[in-house]
Amino acid sequence: MAIILDFRKPPARDRNRGKTLCTRGFHRWRVAKGRRFDVKQGKLVTVLRCERCGEEKLELR
Ligand SMILES: [Zn+2]
Repeated sequence: MAIILDFRKPPARDRNRGKTLCTRGFHRWRVAKGRRFDVKQGKLVTVLRCERCGEEKLELR
């Protein structure tokens, strides 16, 4: 009987490093949908999305 160990699997510490930053509020924001004009707010709106956790936020100008 062979014992197979999978060494390709990275330690949980490395896999969760990015999300740990996210939970602390250090998201990696990227422009997701470009700019549009929000009529209700009367402002330019840029949709930003975090590369790591997918969270979105709106930036109002
Ligand atoms: Zn994030």
